[in-house]
Amino acid sequence: MNTFFIEYRDPLFSVIIFFVLVFVIAFFSYWFGRYKKKEDSRYLDKFLQGFGSLPSHHELKVLITSGELSEKSWLLLAQSYFKNGDYEKSIEIYNELLAVGMKSNPRDTMFLLGRTYFKAGFLERARKIFLEILKTNPRTPQALNYLLLVYEYMRDYESALEVLEPLDALQKETANDAAYLHSLMLLNDVNKSSQEKGEALLEIHKKTNILTYLVFEYLFRTNPKLAWRHFDGSQSEKLVDLLWQLDAKILDLDIISQNGYLRELFTARGDLKLATKSSVFEFDILIKLEGKSNATLAFEYICDSCKQTYPFIFHRCSSCHSIDTARAELNLTKDYYRNTVEENNSFQ
Ligand SMILES: [Zn+2]
Repeated sequence: MNTFFIEYRDPLFSVIIFFVLVFVIAFFSYWFGRYKKKEDSRYLDKFLQGFGSLPSHHELKVLITSGELSEKSWLLLAQSYFKNGDYEKSIEIYNELLAVGMKSNPRDTMFLLGRTYFKAGFLERARKIFLEILKTNPRTPQALNYLLLVYEYMRDYESALEVLEPLDALQKETANDAAYLHSLMLLNDVNKSSQEKGEALLEIHKKTNILTYLVFEYLFRTNPKLAWRHFDGSQSEKLVDLLWQLDAKILDLDIISQNGYLRELFTARGDLKLATKSSVFEFDILIKLEGKSNATLAFEYICDSCKQTYPFIFHRCSSCHSIDTARAELNLTKDYYRNTVEENNSFQ
């Protein structure tokens, strides 16, 4: 029985105690290390979250009223929120700055607030802000420009046209805006027939020589004969995607055969064989392929004024607000539609 017990004076007892102590220390230091690591990582996550989440409305109010940051810093912060598309925070900052009372001219902050409301789609609030600015500072062309845009987006074209008068008085260029607004008014007029609208749009186009795309897109859709009758071959390049997508049934072969660009375009599309080469790279490739490959054209649109790219045609750039600055860029791409048509036919 005694053989199972070790006496405390036994040297083996000290060795066992030593190893037990080593084990206990190693065990605790291991768990303490793990705990510390977890805590550090939790702290860092919390710290980084502080940058990810935005200050609440109340926090913002306290921060602004405490005056720890200068007015300029707040304006810069609001501008960076605006640029990142976080309009809500930008609006909160401008509103708080206006409520606290600004050292600089509140008109500037009101303008920035109005511009943010407009960008965020709060058109009614934007309208009120710009009208308030104009009440005290009627000669502010920037506010007038935005008020015009607000009315245009609200489809209140009458009011938008009224804004052109003070802009005109300030010697600002308004001819393009007037032509565009009159065209939009016509397109939205339910009392006019498509024939009347088409003819009135052509009148505007002849007078101003702009909005070629808007006018011919409407004419080719509603009255192709009228479109071809007034078609100006020198404008073909501006309408390249529109022409590319025209229904084969409404093509006017007499006009196409008399214009080099149209001959190349429709040969590249595969409707006709009136060209063997083209100075436009994409047309040239498609003409040489003679429809043997599954290729077609895709388009994207670049604003000639600010170089912003869009997947769809636009008449007023939503970035720089210029009118009639869209230019179509051609890209060779796979013809998915042709694939579908061939697959459908193979089942017949
Ligand atoms: Zn632009």
